[in-house]
Amino acid sequence: TEPLLEFRDVTIQYQTNRGPITAVSGASFSIEQGEFSGLVGESGSGKSTLVKSVIGGLDSNGSVTSGKILYKGEEIQDYTEAELNKHIRWKEISYIPQSSMNSLDPLQRVSEQALDIASVHSDLSKAEALERFRELFEIVGLSPDRIDDYPHQFSGGMQQRAITALALFLDPALIIADEPTTALDVIMQDQIFKYLDRVKASTDTSMLLITHDISVVFESCEQIAVLHGGQVCESGSVEDVYRNPTHPYTVLLQRAFPDIRYPDRQLEIIEGHPPEQLGEVTECSFVDRCPWAVDECHEHPPSLDGVADSTQSHQSACYRNDEMRELKGELVELAG
Ligand code: ATP
Ligand code: MG
Repeated sequence: TEPLLEFRDVTIQYQTNRGPITAVSGASFSIEQGEFSGLVGESGSGKSTLVKSVIGGLDSNGSVTSGKILYKGEEIQDYTEAELNKHIRWKEISYIPQSSMNSLDPLQRVSEQALDIASVHSDLSKAEALERFRELFEIVGLSPDRIDDYPHQFSGGMQQRAITALALFLDPALIIADEPTTALDVIMQDQIFKYLDRVKASTDTSMLLITHDISVVFESCEQIAVLHGGQVCESGSVEDVYRNPTHPYTVLLQRAFPDIRYPDRQLEIIEGHPPEQLGEVTECSFVDRCPWAVDECHEHPPSLDGVADSTQSHQSACYRNDEMRELKGELVELAG
């Protein structure tokens, strides 16, 4: 069956007075119907840029300069605002932005914003829409009596929950949640994840969860894509990638976050930062941080290749894929 959403060799650039910044470079990965996928990477790796391109949310100096974005097999990378509104937003794909604080209209009651969405994108009557919105408030942990409040009457965390209620409102096929829990306290994070688990169990909604924390993806998703410096380093099922991380960045990222199975393990931070890619990308984005880099890594960015001993969907973009089991074995010895 065809994927729900597919990025095919997508490059996204921002025009700046220093020249073009390549925030995403030749990215390919797919989201399957009914699955939870996680997109993981450090700050500045291009996660928000990539997902904003799907719903027409890029800053005005940013654009998809090559590649394709397919939704249910349909190319959507060139959709206009009007086409996105008519075909995609809210009822097919809804987006929970990273800084939700500014994404509610401050001049409108939250219930009015829900009614606007319902009237443009659905056949729900006003009474049905309000009834449903009250239910969703309950689900995200807000009092249904507060649907008529203005955004400024909510705290930041409550605004995030109100936006989550809006995102779920029209039963979209795909929910994209950009760091949905960073603004929330631990108890609230837990509630949102429990709710998402219920969504997963009871519907065939797909979810793309964006986070810098790989352990969150390992715990709550079925598929994973790892982004570094705008390049997809590794992708596949969580099972394969957890068991046999193959790109050096994934190997190190896994050691940088807590693992519920090894609670006593020492965490090791990764030195350095993802590079800012001015102009064209000519090398592996991880080369300057990689303990196993070779000359070839500077010559051309590696493409995603199948990983031996894994299922077919497991891919890694490293010239040394075939040696990685041995190479990372050395790491364990060094640490132990
Ligand atoms: P974070 O985890 O901090 O949210 P991210 O992975 O979402 O990071 P992006 O926000 O997509 O990263 O940024 C990717 C790159 O694009 C960064 O180098 C960033 O500085 C650059 N960038 C983002 N927006 C713009 C813009 N409007 N103009 C120029 N460069 C931008
Ligand atoms: Mg971001």
